[in-house]
Amino acid sequence: MNKEKEINLENLDKKHFLHPTSSIKQQQEDGPAIIFEEGKGIYLKDINGKEYIEGMSSLWNVAVGYGRKELAKAAKKQMKKLSFSSAFSTFSHESAILLAEKIARLAPGNLNTVFFTSGGSEANESAFKLVRHYWLLKGEPERKKIISRKKAYHGVAAGTTSATGIVEFHQMTNSLAPDFLHVDSDSVAALKKEIEKEGPKTIAAFIAEPVIGAGGMFIPDSDYLKGVRKVCDEYGILFIADEVITGFGRTGKMFAVEHWDVKPDLLVFAKGVTSGYFPLGGVIISEEIHDLLKEKSQGTLFHGFTYSGHPVGCSIALKNLEIIEREHLVANSSLMGSELLNGLKKMENQFHCIGEIRVIGLLAGFELYENAQTKTRFSEKVAPKIVAECAKLGLICRSVTYDDSDTIVLAPPLIITKEEIEKVINIL
Ligand code: PLP
Repeated sequence: MNKEKEINLENLDKKHFLHPTSSIKQQQEDGPAIIFEEGKGIYLKDINGKEYIEGMSSLWNVAVGYGRKELAKAAKKQMKKLSFSSAFSTFSHESAILLAEKIARLAPGNLNTVFFTSGGSEANESAFKLVRHYWLLKGEPERKKIISRKKAYHGVAAGTTSATGIVEFHQMTNSLAPDFLHVDSDSVAALKKEIEKEGPKTIAAFIAEPVIGAGGMFIPDSDYLKGVRKVCDEYGILFIADEVITGFGRTGKMFAVEHWDVKPDLLVFAKGVTSGYFPLGGVIISEEIHDLLKEKSQGTLFHGFTYSGHPVGCSIALKNLEIIEREHLVANSSLMGSELLNGLKKMENQFHCIGEIRVIGLLAGFELYENAQTKTRFSEKVAPKIVAECAKLGLICRSVTYDDSDTIVLAPPLIITKEEIEKVINIL
């Protein structure tokens, strides 16, 4: 790439491209940090030909890696045959039907019916509306509050911003949707107390990421999810698992709730379902919820996106899930997760600044301290600087600095090998 073209792209970027979840000031002052051009396996290349290990699978989503010809072929075939058709009302098409059946087969318990969206925010938003609709049909219209966890990330639409438990996202608009409540992240007692305080008959649902991702990579205590399931059952509250990051093998199980043998009433997915080759998400509902909808719903269910069940997205998802199964990527996530943990532990032994390593499958985070033993933090957060240095050395990872945390997070593609994990650790 010649210098002139690079400068031109940087100028166009500053003038015309408002980046998602970004520092506008930094973009205007520095320009785009890296302009990516192509990807293969776990690697991305920028416009200058420099190669990077994508240690975050981009946005935790590129599970099967980049440059998969099979997925491009599946997209092309579907585009040529039926580029789009509506799934509104009673219209339907083959790829959405087959994908819904496939996901129902993979999902735990009696989660058997799928509503499709274009991504995770729309999927969580749909889950909130569906549970509220469920309670209306059930004759309990006062059940509309949604409880979520502090530190949770559920998206950036109106309801999902409000369900998100990271205050920076609330402050961005200074206007939250009503009927969203937040409780401490890892306390069953706090959930129970909040339900009692608000009145159990006013609560529609509790939503949780089985493993908190964007909020800093927190794995729950071993009895937490079982405990919240029990509390939800006690008060007749629906439990929504947000598996947008954790679904389809990321944690070493097909779905993360399987680690704790918990069955949610609704399960939300996105990201890994297409490995980012097409925007797609959805919510899987239990047979009980579907039965009630079938029994009581009259007329139109007034909720649907133009791209709910996009044929091209569904065809790509079917092929992507086939790859995940054929290449045993769920098992590889678990195995390579152990390698990653070993590597991070070695680093912990070598450097006194590393503490609290949290790894489950290929989701990992660790904290940075001036002295990890005494838990003394650096006077200024260092994770962003380390992330910037890693990028220079050819590794993309992420920093989380909400509240007290000074965390590095990793979520490499599920295809990563032992040798590639060693490269990641060496760069770190
Ligand atoms: N839920 C979780 C757990 C997520 O991590 C994300 C995105 O990172 C979302 C929901 C929102 O998904 P999307 O960005 O596709 O709207």
